Amino acid sequence: MKINYFQRGFNFSQDGPGNRLVYHFQGCNLICPWCANPEGISKDGTLMTGDRVNGTYCEKGAVNGGKIDRTICRSCDKPCVKIPASGIKLSCVSEETESIADYAKSCEPMFFDGGGVTVTGGEPTVQFDALTELFMLLKEKGINTALETNGTHPKLPGLFPLIDYLIIDCKHYDSEKHREICGAGNETILKNIELACEERNRLLVRIPLIGGFNSSADDAVRFAETFEKITNDKCGFEFLMYHEFGKNKYERCGMTYTMTDEAKVGIEEVKLFTEIFNAHSLKTVRT
Ligand code: SF4
Repeated sequence: MKINYFQRGFNFSQDGPGNRLVYHFQGCNLICPWCANPEGISKDGTLMTGDRVNGTYCEKGAVNGGKIDRTICRSCDKPCVKIPASGIKLSCVSEETESIADYAKSCEPMFFDGGGVTVTGGEPTVQFDALTELFMLLKEKGINTALETNGTHPKLPGLFPLIDYLIIDCKHYDSEKHREICGAGNETILKNIELACEERNRLLVRIPLIGGFNSSADDAVRFAETFEKITNDKCGFEFLMYHEFGKNKYERCGMTYTMTDEAKVGIEEVKLFTEIFNAHSLKTVRT
């Protein structure tokens, strides 16, 4: 089975234990406007422009004044992406699960300090069947697996036995606010977090703190009250500060970045959330 991904690389201890080979899968079912990887939202990849776009490699006349008319590109076989001088590339790489697992095995000497393979996104469970197949192959090869997911897939618990380290993101304790901004409610996410705590040894829940959305003291209390009902001491919580690292990619993807300075948070919010969660006997971590 083929997997579409847009990025592959190593990082140490950020997305699971030790030194890890991290795959960012294409496709996401949510629409969080602060997403740092806009090129990963489409399941089939996104055309990305470089500093200079050379229209001579487009026979359909889609390139004018350095801009692409992407409505024309939709029905095109995209020959331009195979020509580096065009200044246009496709974010997506398609690769068979066996090939990915073989490559991961060849990287085994790099998996020091308990490392292995992490799959993140995009949202990896958008390619659920291929993800399942990949994790089965990795387990057969004795490779440590980690998954970072938005937690919305109803079949996620079926994957638990194949995952050594699980990270579930949760953007809001209020389902309607979650739906309004991210495009789906949080019921399945909270249920999957609860089941993960019941069935697994370890779980990390990540909460991105976004000013004007979920980062006030009242929000911290409401988050903590929600999680103290459904988690146990196997669960850790990490707070991620809103950042603009992906902002410049939006234009390259032909998309509009809609976040404003209101979204910015500081270390004070992280400290506040940490104190309030700890006061509710919820364990906090920093990776
Ligand atoms: S994808 Fe096709 S239509 Fe679009 S710029 Fe490339 S060659 Fe032109």
